[in-house]
Amino acid sequence: MAYAVISDVHSNLHALEAVLKDISDHRIDELYFVGDAVGYGPQPNLCIDLLKKDCAILIAGNHDWAVLEYISTEYFNIHAVEAVMYNRQVMAEQHMQDLEKFNLLKSSEKRNALFVHATPRDPENWDYLFSVKDAEINFEHFEQRLCFIGHSHTPVIIEQQQTGEILIHRAKTEINETSRYIVNDGSVGQPRDGDPRASYVIVEDTSIEIVRVQYDVSKTQKEMEAAKLPFRLIERLAYGY
Ligand code: ZN
Repeated sequence: MAYAVISDVHSNLHALEAVLKDISDHRIDELYFVGDAVGYGPQPNLCIDLLKKDCAILIAGNHDWAVLEYISTEYFNIHAVEAVMYNRQVMAEQHMQDLEKFNLLKSSEKRNALFVHATPRDPENWDYLFSVKDAEINFEHFEQRLCFIGHSHTPVIIEQQQTGEILIHRAKTEINETSRYIVNDGSVGQPRDGDPRASYVIVEDTSIEIVRVQYDVSKTQKEMEAAKLPFRLIERLAYGY
């Protein structure tokens, strides 16, 4: 049965609702979340409610940990810090407790998959996995056939063939029985690959597909204006960067 993976919602309720609607239109068995429920956007509480209700696995991202004050924001840019502080301010105690229960990493035996926000090699260091070299190193740090990550907000399917050769897929690929995969599902709430549509991944028995979903960006932007969140964070949603 097919399953879906989402991440980097970043308190963008309207993007999350559009993605959940799209997922419900597909024949999806289970949904997994690989981190960054909050930060950047205006609606942390309602996003956490939906994720808690719908996701079989809940992974924590660096923005989740920053809101919980598990890590400092010294490596965040000033706009991200402002948004972290706003999210912390408006979050209900119950939602803080919910977020505390999100895992750093988790595996699923039935999916033969590992779920983690940044990298399987060093999840708490919040590294970005961008290059083929990064991918090759990280393939050595998990045993499962598949590893799902988020963090970079850039969707990509990285295939490692039995020979060691790395292939990059940007949209959809058939699953090769002898290959292993690192899959970045992109971002629901703040895509950065030049496409403003929300991004997520569907895995079927024989294929992995990156799916893009249109949502009402202006609705989220209006809420961000009302919350006095930084203009730079508001405008970037329209461009997907
Ligand atoms: Zn993120």
